Amino acid sequence: MAALLLAAQTGISPDPDVDVVHYEFNIDLNDTTNFIICTSGIIVNFKSPVNSVAFDLDNPDAEGKGMKVSSIVVNGKNAEWEHSGNRLRIKASEMKGKGSPSEIRISYSGIPSDGLIISGNKFGNRTFFADHWPDRASAYLPVVDHPGDKATVEFIITAPSHYEVVASGYLIEESDLPAGKKLTHWKEEVPLPVKVMTFGAADFAIRLAGHAAGVPVWTWVYPENIREGFNDYAVALKPLEFYSGLIGPYSYEKLANVQSKTIFGGLENAGCIFYSENSVTGQGKAENLIAHEIAHQWFGNSVTEGDWHHIWLSEGFATYLTSVYNEMTYGKEKLKESMMLARTRVLRSSEKTPRPVIDTTITNLMELLSTNSYQKGAWVLHMLRSEVGEETFWKGMRLFYDRFRNGNAVTDDFRIVMEEVSGRDLKNFFHQWLFVAGEPNLKISLAAGKKTGETDIVIEQIQDYLFSFDLEIQINDRGSSRVVTVHISDKTTRISIKAGSGIEIIPDPGIKLLFRRVTA
Ligand SMILES: [Zn+2]
Repeated sequence: MAALLLAAQTGISPDPDVDVVHYEFNIDLNDTTNFIICTSGIIVNFKSPVNSVAFDLDNPDAEGKGMKVSSIVVNGKNAEWEHSGNRLRIKASEMKGKGSPSEIRISYSGIPSDGLIISGNKFGNRTFFADHWPDRASAYLPVVDHPGDKATVEFIITAPSHYEVVASGYLIEESDLPAGKKLTHWKEEVPLPVKVMTFGAADFAIRLAGHAAGVPVWTWVYPENIREGFNDYAVALKPLEFYSGLIGPYSYEKLANVQSKTIFGGLENAGCIFYSENSVTGQGKAENLIAHEIAHQWFGNSVTEGDWHHIWLSEGFATYLTSVYNEMTYGKEKLKESMMLARTRVLRSSEKTPRPVIDTTITNLMELLSTNSYQKGAWVLHMLRSEVGEETFWKGMRLFYDRFRNGNAVTDDFRIVMEEVSGRDLKNFFHQWLFVAGEPNLKISLAAGKKTGETDIVIEQIQDYLFSFDLEIQINDRGSSRVVTVHISDKTTRISIKAGSGIEIIPDPGIKLLFRRVTA
């Protein structure tokens, strides 16, 4: 845990003049030590000619973990470097500007402190699993470890021949080498953020679960879990088909669902999702987890947040789309249930630590995995859906995906798309829900009306920042029931209704608003 948190503290913004186009990672694994031997080829475009470039790569620490560079070649010529503070600075005079990409080849070796998990699995078998999120790849790979610089990638893995090797992309070579080794080469032709590039090597049982929306879906599980795993992971066909219809075409060559040693419950690696090894139970309990990680293939992986603090565009979207998958597969009540649960969690969290969803004060990237990014992000989408209407909302989601597919987007990009499809100014909506901490705290009471036969409903916002929103109120009056919609933007809003004082009111009966009801 400590090592994990230490590794997650960098998150240096990428140099805007540097654009990595392609990574080729050659990694040699063995069965006797955790020492890996690597050559990484990196193709980079520079805006203008430069004579130095820096990548993130952990240098050896006091315990000897980290990577030691042995040679660097830039455009065919040996180059010099400095490697300290987990930054590798390469000096060369041959790196030209735009239109003339440079090829940098870095040879290095070492024991990864993180990013590549080398360990025994639950059955005692040795396994290797890349686990990059958020910026842990640079513990063993020289990269621009930031979601804003996407690149295509190849993993060329040499390992003892008993390992099966899976990775992002499609398989282009598997061949035996001398001395009981095997080379496995996977290539991804769609640009990815480094956080979701991946490979894994283990003893696997492999099965084609089927095709969904034309995409081959594979299951990779430990051979000891073959029956349970093939059964549990096959459900992936359903959300993949569903999101393809709802949002747009899936972006990658295949989808592999992989039992793994990821430190997370699931890690949405592009086209190669890793699930924790205990996700396989044989009882089909992983459907929500699988639906969440598959939703990330659209949002997070294909449309990637341009900077870390916009991560709700990844986690909030995956969380909400999972609820929508359940709504449209198992019924509307499922959506209400999950939004109520999410609301409870958001309120509990904002009471303890009120922070905006987009919180640029966060420097430990692991803290981005918060209720704000997931559940409040999902609530923002849920409220936006009510705000602009069903058809417009999904039109906007599809347009956002289409426009930023395999690229990067920030919150403003999403807002502009939603303004375009709705013809509305949504600046205040986005501002209050994403950049302001907390949510409306409403004191709702009944008062005698001015005229006889009337009762007033008084709604008071008791927090400092005044939100602007519609609140539905269900009025139960002597066996009959109706819903009124009240627009609220002031400190106190008072409406008169034709009813006696014996009415019962239920605010937000349809679960459409993120708010706290204050009784005091
Ligand atoms: Zn997620």
